[in-house]
Amino acid sequence: MNDEHFMQLALDQAQLAQVHGEVPVGAVLVHEGRVVAQAHNAPIALMDPSAHAEIQALRLAAKVLGNYRLDDCTLYVSLEPCAMCVGAILHARLKRVVWAAAEPKTGAAGSVIDLFANTQLNHQTQHSGGVLANQASQLMQDFFKNQRAMHKHHSPAPLREDALRTPEACFADIPDYPWPPHYINDLPSLGGLRIHYLDEGPKDAEVTWLCLHGNPAWSYLYRKMIPVFLQAGHRVVAPDMLGFGKSDKPKKDSTHSFTWHRQVLLEFVEALDLQNIHMVVQDWGGILGLTLPMSARQRYRGLLVMNTTLATAEKPLSPGFLAWRQMCADKPSFDVGRLFGRGNPQMSQAERAAYNAPFPDAGHRAALRAFPPMVPEFANSDGAEVSRQAQDFWQHEWQGKSFMAIGAQDPVLGVEVMQALREHIRHCPEALVLPEAGHFVQEHGEQIAQAALAALRAHTL
Ligand SMILES: [Zn+2]
Repeated sequence: MNDEHFMQLALDQAQLAQVHGEVPVGAVLVHEGRVVAQAHNAPIALMDPSAHAEIQALRLAAKVLGNYRLDDCTLYVSLEPCAMCVGAILHARLKRVVWAAAEPKTGAAGSVIDLFANTQLNHQTQHSGGVLANQASQLMQDFFKNQRAMHKHHSPAPLREDALRTPEACFADIPDYPWPPHYINDLPSLGGLRIHYLDEGPKDAEVTWLCLHGNPAWSYLYRKMIPVFLQAGHRVVAPDMLGFGKSDKPKKDSTHSFTWHRQVLLEFVEALDLQNIHMVVQDWGGILGLTLPMSARQRYRGLLVMNTTLATAEKPLSPGFLAWRQMCADKPSFDVGRLFGRGNPQMSQAERAAYNAPFPDAGHRAALRAFPPMVPEFANSDGAEVSRQAQDFWQHEWQGKSFMAIGAQDPVLGVEVMQALREHIRHCPEALVLPEAGHFVQEHGEQIAQAALAALRAHTL
């Protein structure tokens, strides 16, 4: 019996792995010319990251031979072993390892690292690669080609080349966010980019709460308010802006602009044909959102406004905002979760992590870099003119009801800025001030939602 013979058995195992949807790697353990264990890759089926073919074969062989040391054994494996498996092989004191194809990304027998070459380890295992290598690598290539084709087939919207999509796994452990995702990618302004949004409650509800988040948040910010609105029998729609949350993230900072984001929101409301909207805004949710109703006034009938502004560029940007903008420029990879936690010591570790979830690396953070400099600073800045028109609208033409809540600890868009904004909102009653709340006032959202529900309802009677 030669190496090719046993390697063929390992390849048969690899094929078996593929049948089960696992990466096709197989292993066979041979003792004194006799096969004592055959196994294949099974991390998915066993929900075990260590269930590589080699480990599975070693475990089985040790049981069969009644010894955790496998001194006189040879392991045949269809792919160059990884660091974990070489470690296990050395622990088992195998005599020899033979693999088929090299693994340029994780191979620990020479491709990425050569753990066998370390002479300080007291056990030395003989090793050689390349046996039936062509067959093994063909198997791997076919597998990944298939996977890509399948993924494409199942993917509801192809990802644009100039954008990123945060992997779904990043959102696996988000607390208090049970709502299923909804997506839209066929708005003219999206050019194929995909927006994620929540859409809960009856489509024909008497009121739709349209919840708009700001930078660097996502619809998760509204998790404490959404249940209150749903409890009232209303509908809630909460989109993630492009570059945030579960929405697609353009790679380039320069893709983002005030006009573009505003246009996307206008088209989004039209596409969903939202009626009887109570708009809920804070931060950029308001900087952009407050410019929407004048362009579709029949759709809007209520406003819940929190810690935001209309960026009309009539006054210089505040020192507090300039400090924030500078911080974002100086520390472009600042910890988003920590930012939320700073104003909200009651937040759990998992809640903070949920705010970091959309941004697994710097590539996903273009919007975080783009938004602070996007606040209109000068009279002719993008968005300034439309913000002045909006201010006029709110002051003289707004027919709906309003409710204002202010997190008093906000150093940028706190009580002073909000009282000034209130002057420009027709019939806006005295604000609800939350002395302990900061900029992300929605973290105290349950009480605000209750108060807004009562206030806007009372006003409509
Ligand atoms: Zn391995």
